[in-house]
Amino acid sequence: MMLTLENLINEYAALETEIRKIMTHLFSGTCGLCTACCCRADICEEAVESAFLARLLKKQGLGEKDMDDRFGWLDLSGCSLDYGRPPVCYAYYCDELLARLPDDTHRYSAGVLGKLILHIGQQALGNRHLVEIMDPDDLEKINYDRVFQRLEEAQAAFEVIKAYLASGMLNKADREVLAVITTEEP
Ligand code: SF4
Ligand code: SF4
Repeated sequence: MMLTLENLINEYAALETEIRKIMTHLFSGTCGLCTACCCRADICEEAVESAFLARLLKKQGLGEKDMDDRFGWLDLSGCSLDYGRPPVCYAYYCDELLARLPDDTHRYSAGVLGKLILHIGQQALGNRHLVEIMDPDDLEKINYDRVFQRLEEAQAAFEVIKAYLASGMLNKADREVLAVITTEEP
């Protein structure tokens, strides 16, 4: 595959969509009834301020004009973005959500699942995370080798987590694939 911005956008959007579907399946029962929703309009705004996330929004035909001043991307059925959400939207789990998972292995794999989107963009331009790039022209200057490498790591970890959720088994080789995923905040 050519290491281009267009291909990165397409692959990233496809993986984020898959991750979102699994997270919705796992957590919508709890988050859907939550009265202390952790979504915040200032987090939503990152999706239009970040040059890369703005490109993902544009791919869905969305822009700043579509975002509600008060509720951001949140509507009655949850976040309306299919992809292009700030990475923190996947990485944060409240204690209530973690407590509902059956054991530590589920908590560990859910934690890695939530960090996959964050992982892809780490150190995309020097020490800057991909979503922290504000100038669209800088997207052409990112380290494409590194970002595609991280994308592949995230895709591999996603396959391991999907298989784990189906089988309940996580062996040593699987854990090594998951251990590659970084856990730093952007
Ligand atoms: S993560 Fe926790 S606080 Fe946030 S919406 Fe879900 S249940 Fe509510
Ligand atoms: S999940 Fe969606 S609605 Fe919630 S903070 Fe993130 S972008 Fe906003």
